[in-house]
Amino acid sequence: MDGGHTTPLILVGGGPVGTATAIGLVRAGIPVRLLEARPSLRAADQRTLALTQGSREFLEGLGAWPHRGVTPIDEIHVSQRGRWGQTVLERDDGTGQALGYVLLYNTLMAHLDEVARSLPGLSLEMGAEVTEVIPDWSRATVVWCAAGQEQRADSPLVLVADGGRGLTERVFGAPHEKAYDQVALVARVETDQDVRHRAFERFTAQGPVALLPLEGRYTLIWTGTREVTEERLAWAESHFLAHLQEVFGDRAGNFRRVEARNWFPLSLRVLGSVMRPRCLALGNAAQTMHPVAGQGLNMGLRDAATLVDMLRDGQQSDLGSATQLASYVAARRRDRYGGIGLTHALVTLFSNDWPILSEGRSMGLAALNALPWARRTLTRVMSFGF
Ligand SMILES: Cc1cc2nc3c(=O)[nH]c(=O)nc-3n(C[C@H](O)[C@H](O)[C@H](O)COP(=O)(O)OP(=O)(O)OC[C@H]3O[C@@H](n4cnc5c(N)ncnc54)[C@H](O)[C@@H]3O)c2cc1C
Repeated sequence: MDGGHTTPLILVGGGPVGTATAIGLVRAGIPVRLLEARPSLRAADQRTLALTQGSREFLEGLGAWPHRGVTPIDEIHVSQRGRWGQTVLERDDGTGQALGYVLLYNTLMAHLDEVARSLPGLSLEMGAEVTEVIPDWSRATVVWCAAGQEQRADSPLVLVADGGRGLTERVFGAPHEKAYDQVALVARVETDQDVRHRAFERFTAQGPVALLPLEGRYTLIWTGTREVTEERLAWAESHFLAHLQEVFGDRAGNFRRVEARNWFPLSLRVLGSVMRPRCLALGNAAQTMHPVAGQGLNMGLRDAATLVDMLRDGQQSDLGSATQLASYVAARRRDRYGGIGLTHALVTLFSNDWPILSEGRSMGLAALNALPWARRTLTRVMSFGF
């Protein structure tokens, strides 16, 4: 035990949201103690992320945007299998900025780690698994285990960014949860066409399929039921490529190679309240979403940006006060529910074959194709939130 000493602010979880928040707060003059269960902030996670212009601007403002290993998206082709109607979103539809940026989770974490380690006001404690957070309006208490020893400390504000694991539920209560019938198969694929900076989103009756450009190859995200996905993981390469071709058509060329097949479970988990006395949940801890709209981390970084702005402008004596936490919750409400609703609607409306819905989807895509202002609005919402 370290005697329960008082620290300014404790952040639980050094994933991208927790680490970006910690960097932002320290740059705003608020010292942070960051507790991460893994031995390093660097991750072995090969997950591909599409980040928005808004996320890029936030990370750039923190001096934490990785300039290497990032591929910009200039075009997104959206279509549905076996039905008419498609649209192409282009860089010029908005402000001329890229529609998004593709990079690996571990590329982002390696860069955040480098920046975090250069900041004197940021105390990084690795291998520190938090077992308990006790909310209280006088001071919240955090209990963790490091090198087999239990430790504890109090803080006027504890931020929980543990990715929505067991700790979140113990502190904030059970989330509203919807397990989708689908899981996501993720792989790297090559085609016989130049990848350039084009992404594809194709809706099929079994779920969405996306191709994201990353350094001359595509990352494939192919959703399907658990049983179908297990079969797809086991297929021989030629069989896999032939099926993918059939589902996807030839808009990206002929599929030539697949490697690094993996899968992730998908669910929607949303906390009813992200606030407890002197505690807030951020990022996936607050809301875990289906990756179909590429909103999860982008929304978590918007949680971080709002909080950093609010604490930077607040008084030291307000840190973690009920008024401050309630203002944060109110500031995030519209974007949070807008993003959750949009993602859930995309998954449910675009993952079935009901004739009425598929006709409506075709009309929606055709209308989007014909109306530049509608494409601009969609691009703005996807880039900067609601
Ligand atoms: C296949 C797939 C594709 C995706 N694609 C996109 C995309 O294109 N765009 C997008 O915006 N989002 C995408 N997402 C979502 C994105 O990955 C998440 O939203 C993001 O990782 C959330 O970051 P986080 O920091 O909140 O949580 P996490 O990344 O889960 O990090 C949580 C951290 O907390 C640590 N931790 C957990 N428990 C404890 C504890 N008790 N004590 C101490 N530390 C703890 C963990 O070790 C981890 O480092 C995708 C997700 C999947 C599954």
